[in-house]
Amino acid sequence: MNAMEFIREKRDGRTHASSDIEWFVRALVRGEIADEQVGAWLMAAYLNGLSPDETFALTLAMRDSGEALELNDSAGITLDKHSTGGVGDKTTLIVVPILASLGVPILKMSGRGLGFSGGTLDKLEAIPGFRTDLSASEALSQVEQIGAAIVGQSKSLAPADKLLYAMRDVTATVDSIPLIAASIMSKKLAGGASSILLDVKVGRGSFMKDLDRATELANTLVAIGKRAGKAVRAVLTRMDEPLGRAVGNALEVREAIEFLTPGGHRAPALWEVCRTLCIHGLAMSRPRLSPEAASDAVDNALESGEALAKFVEIVEAQGGEADSILDPLLLPKSPILATVASPRSGYVSGINARRVGELAMWLGAGRVRKEDCIHPGAGIVLLASVGDVMRVGGPLAELHVRTDADFPEAEVSLLGAFSWSDEPPDRQEMILAEVG
Ligand code: URA
Repeated sequence: MNAMEFIREKRDGRTHASSDIEWFVRALVRGEIADEQVGAWLMAAYLNGLSPDETFALTLAMRDSGEALELNDSAGITLDKHSTGGVGDKTTLIVVPILASLGVPILKMSGRGLGFSGGTLDKLEAIPGFRTDLSASEALSQVEQIGAAIVGQSKSLAPADKLLYAMRDVTATVDSIPLIAASIMSKKLAGGASSILLDVKVGRGSFMKDLDRATELANTLVAIGKRAGKAVRAVLTRMDEPLGRAVGNALEVREAIEFLTPGGHRAPALWEVCRTLCIHGLAMSRPRLSPEAASDAVDNALESGEALAKFVEIVEAQGGEADSILDPLLLPKSPILATVASPRSGYVSGINARRVGELAMWLGAGRVRKEDCIHPGAGIVLLASVGDVMRVGGPLAELHVRTDADFPEAEVSLLGAFSWSDEPPDRQEMILAEVG
């Protein structure tokens, strides 16, 4: 095989042999394929698709392009959780300590935010001292000792994915279901957990704008995982509005702490998604537990304070200051907090997650380019949710900004994310489907 023949095969709509896909990925990592050839193949794969066998072969070749972790199951069945990314998505900060406090060992591999979508590593790094760059052996021994670790992917994990993803980003080939599925699952399989729980976001604040495509992606992800011998489930969850109230790193950590605190405030949509993910996570580790018993166990973990105590334990184990969890006012703050008032009376009928995510990024909570730096205290706290009735002048949101000069533009941009109606809007289900 050579690169020209490989590209021609896909350009003409033919099917690659698994051995040729393995050759391509090996050659890619060795730097033997020119960028324009990688781009041409990606476009051919984007336009003509990849069969399930080709997608599976690509996933395994990418998994095997670097180091794979071996989780010995002395810690029990180890779970990994993955979200396809959204706005205000702090579910990992909530679900991991709840499940770990219930005895489900979790090694969570997380990523950074890019564009309008946030990343768990950036949120955790808002906690002073928190280290996400644990070595594989540090992460494994932490899971054995306290039942959970939340870490960044090491550079050596699925390096072929990093090369392909960077090329997809600049060749308009990101949103191809087989390429997304191979990218996500290569990293999850290399992460070594025996069970994988996927939160596939659907809606204007996510990659997948409609339920049909999201379902196809979820089915593809689950099929790859099962074929690789893993237990996999996917939950499709709505991502039209930001999830919960806070968007921005320290602000989201604060919301997660409040959520984990016995009797604390829990935004209903965030609660629905976290409860569902916890029930699936528990069921994967204890198949005989009924959903009702799992749900009771989740309530108990929260109300007994055990989930919060587990979060503190994880933070301390990873070098973070526990004081800032016990007193979240110690977390980083933006110098200026300004309130946005409601421009009208009526029902809030929508809050465009993508626009709020873009605003948070502009305020410094996210990065436009990988090398941009984050301002951990920056972001937005929504004081109204969809379905709330507002009076003109009532408090709609807080903007946590770095300078007074940011406020007028940020206010206009935030108000543009809201839509209104005179009638109460229909209630939107958060859980759209479950696969696997
Ligand atoms: N997340 C990934 O890891 N890869 C993709 O291609 C898309 C989302």
